[in-house]
Amino acid sequence: MPETPVLERVLFSEKQLTDRIAELGRQISFDYKGKTPLFVGILRGCILFYSDLMKQISIDCNMDFMCLSSYSGTTSTGQVRTMLDLHQSIKDRHVVVVEDIVDTGLTLEYLMGNLKNRGAASIEICCLLDKPANRKAPIHPKYIGFQVENEFVIGYGLDYNELYRNLPYIGVFKK
Ligand code: 5GP
Repeated sequence: MPETPVLERVLFSEKQLTDRIAELGRQISFDYKGKTPLFVGILRGCILFYSDLMKQISIDCNMDFMCLSSYSGTTSTGQVRTMLDLHQSIKDRHVVVVEDIVDTGLTLEYLMGNLKNRGAASIEICCLLDKPANRKAPIHPKYIGFQVENEFVIGYGLDYNELYRNLPYIGVFKK
């Protein structure tokens, strides 16, 4: 495992991530059998998780992406903007939003409000990490990889000032 001096400790190894994502993929494939869900990845944090999760989906599905922006450094600004929107209609579709981490929940509160106005048949959230201690909005993901403490984590898609997304594991950022 590559060493990085910005890490306090590794939280989830590559193997732990792979095993848990395989379980999530099996569960979602079972729940959505016959429904051809649309997986909406929230860029850019979702990229590694999204790609590994999709390989574990064994039913027909579609893929699309949105890019939202709210964070600066290690704190949420609370103000969310849509930088890139979906390329297709979600009317009558079963949508699964794929997110790296739910922290305050403000980003997903904004997104859910936005998507619900577009007439989807259903919308659920699949997040790799859930940080419930810091929640400020009533967001309850149906599919959760792992719960984490109120610490700033990096790696496996998660950045600090656009660095460290390429780490193949997740660790706690050293302050
Ligand atoms: P929320 O709106 O739920 O507070 O934050 C959602 C977004 O903030 C996530 O998609 C992620 O990009 C970023 N975020 C929240 N917590 C962390 C964290 O611990 N580490 C990193 N790198 N990003 C985080």
